[in-house]
Amino acid sequence: MPDTRNTELAEVAESDLVTRRGAFRAVAFRDPHDGNEHLALVKGQPRDQEEVLVRVHSECLTGDVFGALRCECGAQLAAAVDAIAEAECGVLVYLRGHEGRGIGLVAKVRTHVLQDEQGLDTVDSATALGLPVDVRDFGAAARVLTHLGVRSVRLLSNNADKVLALTEHGITVAGRVPLLVPVDEHNVRYLTAKRDRLGHDLPHLNSLG
Ligand SMILES: [Zn+2]
Repeated sequence: MPDTRNTELAEVAESDLVTRRGAFRAVAFRDPHDGNEHLALVKGQPRDQEEVLVRVHSECLTGDVFGALRCECGAQLAAAVDAIAEAECGVLVYLRGHEGRGIGLVAKVRTHVLQDEQGLDTVDSATALGLPVDVRDFGAAARVLTHLGVRSVRLLSNNADKVLALTEHGITVAGRVPLLVPVDEHNVRYLTAKRDRLGHDLPHLNSLG
């Protein structure tokens, strides 16, 4: 079981970052293990705090930046930033290298073709291409939360596996806070697959059957 409590981040820089949604500290870091540059958006003073509101968000260029509706990433990111901005303190960890649950941007777009042309879901479209369903590593998130001195977190997520992953990396997850995005015609297949194939807790889909 990996334990990152004693692993220091080699390269870190931080500054104030005023956004449309509030004022944060931006903590950029290069993770020594995965080699990616990530960003933590920090509200308030989470050091030595318990039950800090935390979102660990996997990069999704199409959803986060361009507002694609086929997944709920962009809406989740916006809702998480708003929730953290309103909290006394909180952290949003934005993880690069997590496109398509770790398969990369080109491969992710290839899965979109299979979804649109063959009706495959987010899981089968990856495996049809010989790609893994989820190869994300959450070690970098654990390392930056440790760097920030967070004692325990309330994790904004619908994904019990993410709680487990952070726990395995030495983070104390005191609770999970649902981050439910409204269902619409564009994201319903993706959300249903996340519930039925990936085990996400999405109770607001239950009325759909
Ligand atoms: Zn997405």
